[in-house]
Amino acid sequence: MSERDSTSSHRLIAERLDRVRTRVADAEVRFGRDPGSVQLLAVSKVHSAESIRIAAGLGQVEFGESYVQEACDKQRLLDDLDIEWHFVGRIQSNKTKLIAEHFSWVHGLNDARHAHRLGVQRPNPDTPLRCCLQVNLSGEPSKAGVTPDALPELLDQCSRVPGLRIEGLMTLPAPCDGLESQRRPFAELRQLRDQLATPAIPLSTLSMGMSDDLEAAVAEGATMVRIGTAIFGPRLRA
Ligand SMILES: *Cc1c(COP(=O)(O)O)cnc(C)c1O
Repeated sequence: MSERDSTSSHRLIAERLDRVRTRVADAEVRFGRDPGSVQLLAVSKVHSAESIRIAAGLGQVEFGESYVQEACDKQRLLDDLDIEWHFVGRIQSNKTKLIAEHFSWVHGLNDARHAHRLGVQRPNPDTPLRCCLQVNLSGEPSKAGVTPDALPELLDQCSRVPGLRIEGLMTLPAPCDGLESQRRPFAELRQLRDQLATPAIPLSTLSMGMSDDLEAAVAEGATMVRIGTAIFGPRLRA
């Protein structure tokens, strides 16, 4: 990257990150959430290691990636930084070992067989892989995630797996416009959490909200919003 390009991407990412932090803080105030109760996960899939380095230099710690090999390549370039890596992509059985070894968090757990593989393959049982179970609400197009009916059994199975800690629930609703419609699936996820939480497994993480609907997610109790485009700009490939 030329010096001029690098300066301008620094400025762009700094401006965007600032705007996203302000949106999160404003939403916390507007919807009566405690200040700082919503964590920002920067979803950097497809974007360069250099962009991640810029955001990390601006104080961002949590980064989300969707493609295992791409993530591992970037992690190697960034291993001088203190970054918490989250896997937010679709889990494939033949990638669970790399996921278990290279990430602190997994957001899209929706299969007990994946859970067992990840648990067995987690290198250090003293630092369990922190997982959110993905729920498919109101027929999202990707079809990823379990239905609300299947969630109690998945939770029961996954919470017994050594090497994993089930932190909460995640959802990725179909895009829609308008705060009220955007809030509906997020409210459903919160209600599911309230029904299933126990003292032993409080499910305190609600991973929901992206660039276009983070306010709705914060309104309904998100503790982690997963933001890509609003920080790094449009993705030039899927
Ligand atoms: C890409 C991605 C995001 C970020 O989406 P934006 O709309 O770019 O903010 C969030 N969550 C998951 C699971 C993703 O794959």
